Amino acid sequence: MGNVRIGERVTRTSTSQVEEVQPTEVEVPPPPPQVAPPAAPAARERERDTYSPPRAARANPARVPSPPARPPEEVLREDPRFTRLPEATQAAVVERARAAGNSPIAQQNLRTLATNDGFAQLPLSNQRAMLDLQGQAPVDRQRTEQLVNLADNPNFRGLDEATRNNALGQLSRHPDDPSARQTVARLATSPGFARMPGADQNRLLNLVGGTNVLSNPARQALDGLMGSAAFQGANAEGQQAQLNDFLTRQPAAPRVVSGLHGPTPVARLTTTTIYGPTQVPDHNFSSGRAAANRYEVEVDGRRIPVFMPRNPNPANGHSPTIEQVAQGLAVLPPASRALVDRVNVEPGQNPQDAYWRTRYPNDPNARNFRSYMTAGADGTVTIYPSEHPQSQAVLNDSLIHETGHTLSMRRWGDDSSGRRWADWRNAIQRDGIRPSNYSANAPGEDFSESLVLYQRVRGTPQEAEVRAMMPERFRILDRLLSGSR
Ligand SMILES: [Zn+2]
Repeated sequence: MGNVRIGERVTRTSTSQVEEVQPTEVEVPPPPPQVAPPAAPAARERERDTYSPPRAARANPARVPSPPARPPEEVLREDPRFTRLPEATQAAVVERARAAGNSPIAQQNLRTLATNDGFAQLPLSNQRAMLDLQGQAPVDRQRTEQLVNLADNPNFRGLDEATRNNALGQLSRHPDDPSARQTVARLATSPGFARMPGADQNRLLNLVGGTNVLSNPARQALDGLMGSAAFQGANAEGQQAQLNDFLTRQPAAPRVVSGLHGPTPVARLTTTTIYGPTQVPDHNFSSGRAAANRYEVEVDGRRIPVFMPRNPNPANGHSPTIEQVAQGLAVLPPASRALVDRVNVEPGQNPQDAYWRTRYPNDPNARNFRSYMTAGADGTVTIYPSEHPQSQAVLNDSLIHETGHTLSMRRWGDDSSGRRWADWRNAIQRDGIRPSNYSANAPGEDFSESLVLYQRVRGTPQEAEVRAMMPERFRILDRLLSGSR
């Protein structure tokens, strides 16, 4: 697809090629008319500048090279601003010059970057990253200008080599989104950013640089901040404080991860069979004893009992159908499904709701809190009737969240302020980025929200992005789920 895109751009801009080379032509003094037959030399000059094959023999035919008239690398090697670059960078530039063929715009862009003074001051790895970025769109002048502006910017050059590479890597995630690149470049050149500690610079770049469900809204929010009068009017120190506050508060964090729009791993094809129902006259639901229909949902050769109220009361809210529950179990990652021993679709609301409303006092949504789904160490998933119908996506993600509680409680106990939870609490601290606002309620909720995000991005192009944001938590999850993801 990249090739197609680049090809289109070449075609689209081909009419402006003359425009691109005109400044060069203007500098060529017109030859006196008496020296040669009229028009011919001027035509030759134009041909030479556009690298098109000469049509007529020159004064000394033996010295005329075969087309293209002058290899672009030859032009480069005559330029001391190019030959001052490290050998490896020169080689990379020459390789790209050959690949650019007879596109004068691509050759010009490449020369502009490779001969830039700021570019020459960058270490090899940054130069390579910049050339890679330019290589994404060799004929895109704006892309080249952006890279030159970065290379020329003292704030950007003042960053660590690795931080610069991180910024360039984030830019490369948005080949077709100039405004995303603009926001990242603006951040990486801002005086306030330059003052931040390196670890925070990279956290912020990881948070706003990607294409995942956390980064997209965060980048928009940061763009708003950097465009505000308060930010523009602040000195470097004031900007630093605002960026630090942005990173700490994460104003664009989602309320919960479940149901967020974004790429999900390709669901494995799993056959599901629903057996039943058989009637249970007096099932022990959490919301009270009631008549139930007992189903069994078979996935991957294992049958999971699912109890549905036989006489649901619509006034209590919306409940999923047995087919929706079966679908949720089918797409649940095997490691999570293995933790589910039974599902109760409750006839009434959670008797514990009043307790949960007081449990997370910092959560602005706690006042109206109403349980949708719960699970504990025993492996029973409980689904309560909800005020509004929930989508299949929310049900699927919520199953991952709840099985996260089962998993973490079995491993570390149900007191997430306890000693066995210390590794997870340290991981939260060290990562410094949270998956959702809800995760801030307790380390146990952070675990479950992180697990949803982990399973949502696993195997997608966004996995590396989110892993970079939450490396410590992903490492623990890797270990917990190894062999059974
Ligand atoms: Zn939870």
